[in-house]
Amino acid sequence: MKFVTVKDQSGEFIGVVDESGTRVLPLKKAWEEIENTPFPDTMLQAIDLGDEFIEKVHKLMEKVNIDSFLSLDQYTILAPIPTPRKNIYCVGKNYAKHAIEMGSKEDIPEHPIIFTKSPTTVVGCGAEVLNHQQVTSELDYEGELAVIIGKKGRGISREDALDYVFGYTILNDVTARDLQAQHKQYFIGKSLDTTCPMGPWIVHSSEIEKPHNLNIETKINGEVRQSSNTENFIFPIEEIIHVLSKGMTLEPGDIIATGTPEGVGKGFKPPRFLKSGDVMTVTIEQIGTLTNTIS
Ligand code: MG
Repeated sequence: MKFVTVKDQSGEFIGVVDESGTRVLPLKKAWEEIENTPFPDTMLQAIDLGDEFIEKVHKLMEKVNIDSFLSLDQYTILAPIPTPRKNIYCVGKNYAKHAIEMGSKEDIPEHPIIFTKSPTTVVGCGAEVLNHQQVTSELDYEGELAVIIGKKGRGISREDALDYVFGYTILNDVTARDLQAQHKQYFIGKSLDTTCPMGPWIVHSSEIEKPHNLNIETKINGEVRQSSNTENFIFPIEEIIHVLSKGMTLEPGDIIATGTPEGVGKGFKPPRFLKSGDVMTVTIEQIGTLTNTIS
Protein backbone atom coordinates (compact mmCIF):
# COMPACT_ATOMS: atom_id res chain seq x y z
CA MET A 1 0.00 0.00 0.00
CA LYS A 2 1.05 3.53 -0.80
CA PHE A 3 0.33 6.04 1.98
CA VAL A 4 0.16 9.70 1.02
CA THR A 5 -0.41 13.01 2.81
CA VAL A 6 -2.40 15.53 0.75
CA LYS A 7 -4.21 18.81 1.32
CA ASP A 8 -7.01 20.90 -0.14
CA GLN A 9 -8.95 23.94 1.12
CA SER A 10 -10.50 21.85 3.91
CA GLY A 11 -7.14 20.78 5.32
CA GLU A 12 -4.64 17.92 5.35
CA PHE A 13 -5.41 14.21 5.37
CA ILE A 14 -3.76 10.85 4.85
CA GLY A 15 -4.84 8.44 2.17
CA VAL A 16 -4.10 5.25 0.29
CA VAL A 17 -3.16 5.65 -3.37
CA ASP A 18 -4.41 3.05 -5.85
CA GLU A 19 -2.24 0.87 -8.11
CA SER A 20 -2.27 3.44 -10.91
CA GLY A 21 -0.94 6.16 -8.60
CA THR A 22 -3.69 8.54 -9.75
CA ARG A 23 -6.51 8.04 -7.23
CA VAL A 24 -6.61 8.39 -3.46
CA LEU A 25 -8.86 7.04 -0.73
CA PRO A 26 -9.22 9.56 2.13
CA LEU A 27 -8.70 7.12 5.01
CA LYS A 28 -10.30 8.86 7.99
CA LYS A 29 -13.41 9.91 6.07
CA ALA A 30 -13.88 6.38 4.69
CA TRP A 31 -13.30 4.88 8.14
CA GLU A 32 -15.89 7.12 9.81
CA GLU A 33 -18.49 5.98 7.26
CA ILE A 34 -18.17 2.36 8.41
CA GLU A 35 -16.91 2.52 12.01
CA ASN A 36 -17.53 4.67 15.03
CA THR A 37 -14.03 4.37 16.48
CA PRO A 38 -11.04 6.76 16.33
CA PHE A 39 -8.73 6.87 13.31
CA PRO A 40 -5.39 8.72 13.04
CA ASP A 41 -5.37 12.18 11.43
CA THR A 42 -1.72 12.33 10.40
CA MET A 43 0.95 10.00 9.02
CA LEU A 44 2.92 10.24 12.26
CA GLN A 45 -0.15 9.23 14.31
CA ALA A 46 -0.74 6.37 11.87
CA ILE A 47 2.85 5.10 12.12
CA ASP A 48 2.68 5.41 15.92
CA LEU A 49 -0.31 3.03 15.94
CA GLY A 50 1.86 0.33 14.37
CA ASP A 51 0.17 -2.92 13.30
CA GLU A 52 -3.21 -1.62 14.48
CA PHE A 53 -3.12 1.02 11.72
CA ILE A 54 -2.34 -1.55 9.03
CA GLU A 55 -5.12 -3.84 10.32
CA LYS A 56 -7.58 -0.94 10.18
CA VAL A 57 -6.58 -0.11 6.62
CA HIS A 58 -6.97 -3.75 5.55
CA LYS A 59 -10.41 -3.86 7.14
CA LEU A 60 -11.36 -0.66 5.35
CA MET A 61 -10.10 -1.84 1.96
CA GLU A 62 -12.35 -4.91 2.17
CA LYS A 63 -15.40 -2.70 2.64
CA VAL A 64 -14.91 0.34 0.41
CA ASN A 65 -15.80 0.38 -3.25
CA ILE A 66 -13.89 1.94 -6.09
CA ASP A 67 -16.08 5.08 -6.05
CA SER A 68 -14.58 6.07 -2.70
CA PHE A 69 -11.25 6.71 -4.45
CA LEU A 70 -10.92 10.32 -5.65
CA SER A 71 -8.67 11.84 -8.29
CA LEU A 72 -5.29 12.68 -6.76
CA ASP A 73 -5.00 15.66 -9.15
CA GLN A 74 -7.39 17.77 -7.12
CA TYR A 75 -5.07 17.78 -4.10
CA THR A 76 -1.62 19.13 -3.31
CA ILE A 77 0.67 16.26 -2.41
CA LEU A 78 2.70 17.07 0.71
CA ALA A 79 5.72 15.17 1.98
CA PRO A 80 4.35 11.91 3.46
CA ILE A 81 5.55 13.18 6.86
CA PRO A 82 5.21 16.94 6.31
CA THR A 83 6.85 17.95 9.59
CA PRO A 84 9.14 15.27 11.01
CA ARG A 85 9.57 15.31 14.80
CA LYS A 86 13.34 15.09 14.50
CA ASN A 87 16.14 15.75 12.06
CA ILE A 88 16.38 13.36 9.14
CA TYR A 89 19.22 10.85 9.56
CA CYS A 90 21.36 10.58 6.44
CA VAL A 91 24.09 8.20 5.38
CA GLY A 92 27.00 9.76 3.49
CA LYS A 93 28.98 7.89 0.83
CA ASN A 94 27.03 4.62 0.85
CA TYR A 95 27.83 3.80 -2.79
CA ALA A 96 31.53 3.18 -3.52
CA LYS A 97 31.47 4.94 -6.91
CA HIS A 98 29.95 8.06 -5.30
CA ALA A 99 32.62 8.06 -2.56
CA ILE A 100 35.26 7.93 -5.32
CA GLU A 101 33.70 10.75 -7.39
CA MET A 102 33.72 12.95 -4.26
CA GLY A 103 37.40 12.25 -3.62
CA SER A 104 39.22 8.97 -4.10
CA LYS A 105 39.17 5.30 -3.09
CA GLU A 106 40.44 6.47 0.30
CA ASP A 107 37.00 8.04 0.81
CA ILE A 108 35.18 4.69 0.85
CA PRO A 109 34.09 4.55 4.50
CA GLU A 110 34.78 1.70 6.93
CA HIS A 111 31.85 2.71 9.14
CA PRO A 112 28.65 4.49 8.08
CA ILE A 113 29.03 8.29 7.89
CA ILE A 114 25.95 9.80 9.54
CA PHE A 115 24.78 13.41 9.38
CA THR A 116 21.34 15.01 9.67
CA LYS A 117 19.08 17.52 7.92
CA SER A 118 16.79 19.89 9.80
CA PRO A 119 13.01 19.11 9.68
CA THR A 120 12.48 22.56 8.09
CA THR A 121 14.11 21.21 4.89
CA VAL A 122 11.18 18.92 4.11
CA VAL A 123 8.86 19.57 1.15
CA GLY A 124 6.66 17.31 -0.96
CA CYS A 125 6.60 16.08 -4.53
CA GLY A 126 5.92 18.99 -6.88
CA ALA A 127 7.07 21.65 -4.42
CA GLU A 128 9.61 24.25 -5.47
CA VAL A 129 13.14 23.96 -4.06
CA LEU A 130 14.54 27.44 -3.34
CA ASN A 131 17.70 28.29 -5.30
CA HIS A 132 19.24 30.01 -2.24
CA GLN A 133 21.45 32.07 -4.55
CA GLN A 134 22.27 34.53 -1.74
CA VAL A 135 24.03 31.80 0.24
CA THR A 136 25.23 29.17 -2.26
CA SER A 137 26.41 28.90 -5.85
CA GLU A 138 26.87 25.12 -5.69
CA LEU A 139 23.43 23.58 -5.18
CA ASP A 140 23.46 19.85 -5.99
CA TYR A 141 21.03 16.92 -6.09
CA GLU A 142 21.27 13.48 -4.45
CA GLY A 143 18.56 10.92 -5.24
CA GLU A 144 18.13 8.44 -2.39
CA LEU A 145 15.99 5.64 -0.98
CA ALA A 146 14.59 6.66 2.42
CA VAL A 147 13.56 4.27 5.19
CA ILE A 148 10.72 5.18 7.58
CA ILE A 149 11.06 3.61 11.02
CA GLY A 150 7.86 2.02 12.35
CA LYS A 151 8.79 0.78 15.80
CA LYS A 152 10.73 2.10 18.79
CA GLY A 153 14.00 0.35 19.54
CA ARG A 154 17.54 0.55 20.82
CA GLY A 155 20.25 -2.05 20.34
CA ILE A 156 18.46 -3.45 17.27
CA SER A 157 20.21 -6.51 15.81
CA ARG A 158 20.93 -6.82 12.10
CA GLU A 159 18.62 -9.85 12.02
CA ASP A 160 15.66 -7.91 13.43
CA ALA A 161 16.36 -4.57 11.74
CA LEU A 162 13.89 -4.83 8.84
CA ASP A 163 11.06 -5.57 11.33
CA TYR A 164 11.53 -1.96 12.49
CA VAL A 165 10.84 -0.53 9.03
CA PHE A 166 7.36 0.90 8.38
CA GLY A 167 8.03 1.61 4.73
CA TYR A 168 10.08 3.27 2.03
CA THR A 169 9.98 6.54 0.15
CA ILE A 170 12.13 8.65 -2.20
CA LEU A 171 14.22 11.55 -0.94
CA ASN A 172 16.38 14.13 -2.71
CA ASP A 173 19.18 15.20 -0.35
CA VAL A 174 19.71 18.60 -2.02
CA THR A 175 23.06 19.97 -0.86
CA ALA A 176 24.94 23.28 -0.96
CA ARG A 177 28.42 21.89 -1.74
CA ASP A 178 30.25 25.14 -0.95
CA LEU A 179 28.65 25.34 2.51
CA GLN A 180 29.18 21.62 3.06
CA ALA A 181 32.92 22.09 2.47
CA GLN A 182 33.30 25.45 4.24
CA HIS A 183 31.72 24.39 7.54
CA LYS A 184 33.41 20.95 7.72
CA GLN A 185 30.41 19.31 9.38
CA TYR A 186 27.71 18.82 6.76
CA PHE A 187 24.77 20.24 8.73
CA ILE A 188 24.47 23.79 7.30
CA GLY A 189 25.13 22.70 3.72
CA LYS A 190 22.45 20.03 4.06
CA SER A 191 19.80 22.04 5.94
CA LEU A 192 18.77 25.01 3.79
CA ASP A 193 14.98 25.38 3.69
CA THR A 194 13.20 23.17 1.10
CA THR A 195 16.30 21.04 0.41
CA CYS A 196 14.70 17.77 1.44
CA PRO A 197 11.99 16.91 -1.09
CA MET A 198 10.39 13.63 -0.10
CA GLY A 199 7.65 11.37 -1.45
CA PRO A 200 5.38 11.21 -3.29
CA TRP A 201 4.22 8.54 -0.79
CA ILE A 202 5.44 5.84 1.58
CA VAL A 203 5.21 2.28 0.25
CA HIS A 204 4.51 -0.12 3.12
CA SER A 205 7.39 -2.50 3.88
CA SER A 206 5.19 -5.57 3.20
CA GLU A 207 5.19 -4.64 -0.49
CA ILE A 208 8.93 -4.26 -0.93
CA GLU A 209 10.36 -7.73 -0.53
CA LYS A 210 13.88 -6.83 -1.61
CA PRO A 211 14.81 -3.26 -0.63
CA HIS A 212 18.37 -4.07 -1.71
CA ASN A 213 17.42 -4.72 -5.31
CA LEU A 214 15.74 -1.51 -6.49
CA ASN A 215 16.79 0.53 -9.50
CA ILE A 216 17.32 4.20 -8.66
CA GLU A 217 17.61 6.95 -11.27
CA THR A 218 17.92 10.74 -11.09
CA LYS A 219 17.28 12.97 -14.10
CA ILE A 220 17.90 16.69 -14.45
CA ASN A 221 15.71 18.26 -17.16
CA GLY A 222 15.18 14.76 -18.54
CA GLU A 223 18.89 13.87 -18.73
CA VAL A 224 19.91 10.80 -16.72
CA ARG A 225 22.59 11.80 -14.20
CA GLN A 226 22.40 9.00 -11.64
CA SER A 227 21.53 5.39 -12.46
CA SER A 228 22.25 2.62 -10.00
CA ASN A 229 20.66 -0.06 -7.84
CA THR A 230 20.36 -0.34 -4.07
CA GLU A 231 22.30 -3.62 -4.33
CA ASN A 232 25.35 -1.34 -4.54
CA PHE A 233 24.98 -0.07 -0.95
CA ILE A 234 28.20 -0.35 1.04
CA PHE A 235 26.12 -0.57 4.23
CA PRO A 236 22.77 -2.35 3.86
CA ILE A 237 19.69 -1.07 5.69
CA GLU A 238 20.11 -3.72 8.42
CA GLU A 239 23.61 -2.43 9.17
CA ILE A 240 22.53 1.23 9.16
CA ILE A 241 19.69 0.56 11.62
CA HIS A 242 21.96 -1.62 13.78
CA VAL A 243 24.69 1.04 13.94
CA LEU A 244 22.33 4.00 14.50
CA SER A 245 20.43 2.22 17.28
CA LYS A 246 23.42 0.88 19.20
CA GLY A 247 23.08 3.50 21.93
CA MET A 248 20.38 5.78 20.53
CA THR A 249 16.66 5.03 20.45
CA LEU A 250 15.03 5.00 17.05
CA GLU A 251 11.36 5.95 17.10
CA PRO A 252 8.32 5.58 14.84
CA GLY A 253 8.39 8.24 12.14
CA ASP A 254 12.19 8.57 12.11
CA ILE A 255 13.48 8.98 8.56
CA ILE A 256 16.79 7.56 7.31
CA ALA A 257 18.16 8.59 3.89
CA THR A 258 20.38 5.75 2.74
CA GLY A 259 22.89 7.64 0.58
CA THR A 260 23.21 8.61 -3.07
CA PRO A 261 24.84 6.85 -6.03
CA GLU A 262 27.46 8.34 -8.36
CA GLY A 263 26.49 11.03 -10.84
CA VAL A 264 25.93 14.07 -8.57
CA GLY A 265 26.66 17.48 -10.12
CA LYS A 266 29.92 17.86 -8.19
CA GLY A 267 31.19 14.59 -9.68
CA PHE A 268 31.29 16.04 -13.23
CA LYS A 269 34.33 17.85 -14.63
CA PRO A 270 33.53 20.69 -14.71
CA PRO A 271 30.83 20.36 -12.03
CA ARG A 272 27.20 20.69 -13.12
CA PHE A 273 25.41 22.44 -10.27
CA LEU A 274 21.68 23.19 -10.23
CA LYS A 275 20.26 26.44 -11.60
CA SER A 276 16.88 28.17 -11.55
CA GLY A 277 14.25 26.28 -13.51
CA ASP A 278 16.01 22.89 -13.38
CA VAL A 279 13.59 19.99 -12.98
CA MET A 280 14.85 17.14 -10.81
CA THR A 281 13.19 13.73 -10.96
CA VAL A 282 14.20 10.80 -8.81
CA THR A 283 12.65 7.43 -9.67
CA ILE A 284 12.92 4.30 -7.57
CA GLU A 285 11.52 0.98 -8.76
CA GLN A 286 8.37 -0.15 -6.91
CA ILE A 287 7.99 3.28 -5.26
CA GLY A 288 7.46 5.99 -7.90
CA THR A 289 8.90 9.31 -9.01
CA LEU A 290 9.69 12.42 -6.97
CA THR A 291 9.70 15.61 -9.06
CA ASN A 292 10.80 19.09 -7.94
CA THR A 293 11.85 22.29 -9.67
CA ILE A 294 14.50 24.79 -8.57
CA SER A 295 13.01 28.28 -8.04
MG1 MG B 1 22.96 12.24 0.67
